[in-house]
Amino acid sequence: MAASASRYDRQIRLPQIGADGQAALRRASVAVIGLGALGSHGADLLARAGVGRLILIDRDVVEWSNLQRQSLYDERDAERARPKAEAAAERLRAVNADVELTVQLADLSAHNAPRLLHGATLLLDGTDNFATRYLLNDFSVQQRVAYVYAGVVSTYGLVGAVVPDGPCLRCTYPEPPDAANTPTCQSAGVFGPAVAVVAGLAAGEALKIASGNPRSAHAGFRYVDLWSGESRALGARQDPDCPCCGRRDFEWLEGRRGAPRAQALCGGGAVQLPGGEAAPDLAALGRKLQGTVGDLEVRERYLRFRDNGLELTLFADGRALVRGTEDPAAARALLARTVGA
Ligand SMILES: [Zn+2]
Repeated sequence: MAASASRYDRQIRLPQIGADGQAALRRASVAVIGLGALGSHGADLLARAGVGRLILIDRDVVEWSNLQRQSLYDERDAERARPKAEAAAERLRAVNADVELTVQLADLSAHNAPRLLHGATLLLDGTDNFATRYLLNDFSVQQRVAYVYAGVVSTYGLVGAVVPDGPCLRCTYPEPPDAANTPTCQSAGVFGPAVAVVAGLAAGEALKIASGNPRSAHAGFRYVDLWSGESRALGARQDPDCPCCGRRDFEWLEGRRGAPRAQALCGGGAVQLPGGEAAPDLAALGRKLQGTVGDLEVRERYLRFRDNGLELTLFADGRALVRGTEDPAAARALLARTVGA
């Protein structure tokens, strides 16, 4: 690819980055976990900045309600309910063909984190749930890989950078908030500009760290509300008794804590079912299901069909996403009836 030498000129002119910083970005390998609104904006900024490799991890598909703020997707992606990591990669390839992209249609868990995050030099948070964030924090501290936290809901959000030997997420927030009392994008809505600002702050921390300026990253957390205009700094102090970086008890990464096996997803109207030990043979399953289900599609990374008003997407790692219900029992019944237990 004959990319123009001037592509990064305006970034190299920044004395904080320069040619050395640009070369460091080229060597960086950033895992973007979750490619919703935050991950979309973040991955776009990192690809344009010339980060050498992006590992794109997402478990979901594009829905119409995503288009208001998830900037990597368009109406064709929603129409076809494309897996987000795949649609994001196609868009990012057009943005900057020099970036190496690794696509993972997967739900990050204690089980697959070592494999999916292998080789990452930085973790960028685009998730919508605390179980994954606490898992990322554990991985960051244990493996000494920087982690940039980002979260947004309603009109406000929070950004924080965890760098080796600095305070971690659990120094400030030892336990995740109670899910039953925590607003989500589905329950409280989300203001598109709040996402853009929070994602911009997070990408800024990521680019500082990845360009070789980790000391310029802001320790602790920053809260910002786009509606009221309020912003403040929180928790920049390391807690020697922190369960993660202090006592080094990696309970999320070791799978002693985490998300339930079958779960309703944040977007609503969908249930995720975990895969078994063996990966399914999608082509063989496609042949088996031919003529027994509606709208069967067999692709390289997933298989999809409709049955009784529900839509089932089976990914190559064995995980299934059932849309049209929030009842795990109904989702499990569909999976057992069609694909098998
Ligand atoms: Zn800590």
